[in-house]
Amino acid sequence: MALRTPQQYLESLKDGRVVYCNGERVPDVTKHPILNICNHWVAMDYVMSNDPRYQDLLTDLDEEGDRVAFVLKPQRTKEDLLRLREVVKLWARATFGKPSGAKFVAKDGLNAVTVVSRRVDKKYGTNYAVNVEAYRKYLQKNDLSFAMGLTDVKGDRSLRPAQQKQHGDFYVRIVEERDDGIVVSGAKAHISQVAACNELLVAPCRAMREDDKAYAVAFGVPVNAKGITLISAEPEVEEGVDLFDHPIAGSVYINDALISFDNVFIPKERIFLKGEWEFAGQVAYMFANFHRLSAETYKAIELELFTGAAALMAEYNGVERAPHVRDKLTWLAMYTEAVEIIGKAACEHCSSEKDSDLVYPNPLYANICKFYFADNWHEATKFIQDIAGGIVATCPSSKDYFNPETHGIMEKYLAGKEGVSTESRLRMIKLVRDLTSSYEDVLTIHAEGSLEAQKLSILVLADFERYKAAAMRAARVENVKPHPLFDNLPAFPPKL
Ligand SMILES: Cc1cc2nc3c(=O)[nH]c(=O)nc-3n(C[C@H](O)[C@H](O)[C@H](O)COP(=O)(O)OP(=O)(O)OC[C@H]3O[C@@H](n4cnc5c(N)ncnc54)[C@H](O)[C@@H]3O)c2cc1C
Repeated sequence: MALRTPQQYLESLKDGRVVYCNGERVPDVTKHPILNICNHWVAMDYVMSNDPRYQDLLTDLDEEGDRVAFVLKPQRTKEDLLRLREVVKLWARATFGKPSGAKFVAKDGLNAVTVVSRRVDKKYGTNYAVNVEAYRKYLQKNDLSFAMGLTDVKGDRSLRPAQQKQHGDFYVRIVEERDDGIVVSGAKAHISQVAACNELLVAPCRAMREDDKAYAVAFGVPVNAKGITLISAEPEVEEGVDLFDHPIAGSVYINDALISFDNVFIPKERIFLKGEWEFAGQVAYMFANFHRLSAETYKAIELELFTGAAALMAEYNGVERAPHVRDKLTWLAMYTEAVEIIGKAACEHCSSEKDSDLVYPNPLYANICKFYFADNWHEATKFIQDIAGGIVATCPSSKDYFNPETHGIMEKYLAGKEGVSTESRLRMIKLVRDLTSSYEDVLTIHAEGSLEAQKLSILVLADFERYKAAAMRAARVENVKPHPLFDNLPAFPPKL
């Protein structure tokens, strides 16, 4: 099968999956007004890969001559990574900063299990790498959408999976081993767009010890498998949402769902890790390594939109020349471009892992980029909210703006600078409200890993020997571990 059309993709979601949203079981996700926001956003992947203008970037021909998604192929060179960035940028620009989710997150998980399965096979003589490759082929050939189930619900965060006290299901685990596969139970949280995906790739989210063995499990499973229940994230908008009032929230609902696994059977050819506990942390770590590219690339595009909205609000309010506003706009431009540059540098200086021919962004640069973006987000929202004014919180609804009885009042009194229509100003105000919602705040801090996770990686990966060597040289302290960059430098000041 070649690429699917958006219609074929939507049809494929009518498969009896068990999905709840806003307190009700949803018999057909393609008929649900809110879930359809997510479905249509995911469908943009199919819209764009069928568009001849984007096909060269988004797709490649495989060995059999079938057109397949480029992102489902493993990246082996720096050029592959830079192309992947362009794919993510195109997706993100098309869908208001949030790339359509058909393959966006889980492709990185697929690469993670590709790398780690080879290591496990090497140590234990297992056959996981073959399973992963067959799964990759299956996803490619059927052009499937798939979600990444990494984050477990976790219960008491200070305890490992096997130490949890209330019950044993805070992390997904193997509850039965059979000749033809395994049975799993437990739950994953915040899993983006899963109700709009065909498949779910499940992997552990942390390092484990021997007694956590049952939790060291990775597999691929159809979303409609018996025993899987999805509970949708509370939507930010209601049925019939007006895109004037919610330009982003009304068209991008990522539906980060809670997934319960109640004795779900996984056939043995879909298993990528089964009890090899010392590799659990490696899967999570490798997922983060691959996923940094995706996260950072779309953040830069989201910031492009964000900074543009700040500049326009300044113009619409007539304050674009005020010194403090120019200062804030300068900061926002630096923030936007720095995220772009650091993310790109991470790809230019990419890393590869032994036992694999896959490459991923330099993890030190990538973690710095992600941390820098997330850590400064609230500062950025403070600036845009300051520039836009209190009207971001108090603006009447578009229903009032378009009501003939109140239109005149709003048109007259909510105008800004001469030459800018009141409608444009109101639309920009609504955009700023969506961009600075609490959903965006929490997503920025936690999605793709919380701040501490990046700090931990940065501390481990940073080249402190180099930093120390520089300081010792300047302080004229003898370095017992000479550093190649500093060891052979000429004496300074020179003896002239
Ligand atoms: C919008 C959104 C979309 C997401 N999409 C996906 C997805 O598609 N797939 C997926 O797998 N995940 C997804 N995630 C999950 C995301 O990766 C997690 O939110 C993130 O890893 C943090 O985990 P948590 O939410 O459980 O928070 P917690 O782990 O509870 O973190 C809360 C705080 O506790 C601290 N903490 C936690 N454990 C410890 C510990 N042992 N010791 C010290 N401090 C600790 C953290 O550092 C943090 O400060 C998404 C999250 C969001 C918000």
